[in-house]
Amino acid sequence: MTRSLRAHTLISNIERDKGEEPRPGVLALTRRTFVKACAAVLGGVGFAQLTVGQASAAKKSKQKQVRYQTKPKGGRACADCTFFLAEEKACKIVEGEIVAEGWCVRWVKKKA
Ligand code: SF4
Repeated sequence: MTRSLRAHTLISNIERDKGEEPRPGVLALTRRTFVKACAAVLGGVGFAQLTVGQASAAKKSKQKQVRYQTKPKGGRACADCTFFLAEEKACKIVEGEIVAEGWCVRWVKKKA
């Protein structure tokens, strides 16, 4: 909700509390309408975040797509990659079992 809309709502509520009709140009929102509108906006944001989260979790690449191999390449190995999950023998972005000696084109040096 914009600052301007919030200000109009406050003015509208103050005028209503005084028993006055809101001035022209001032939004005539009731507290109930305001709360419903905020709930709808927040619900939409939550749904969008949930959808994005699910999509990113399901977006692992297939090993063939990233030319995964079980041998290091040029001194680079999964063990030194930021995406490697050693305990799970897995990768955050590539599907399937991943070995520490492996490598793929998505390799990114792990920060020290
Ligand atoms: S090199 Fe590729 S498969 Fe290995 S951990 Fe990094 S991103 Fe995953």
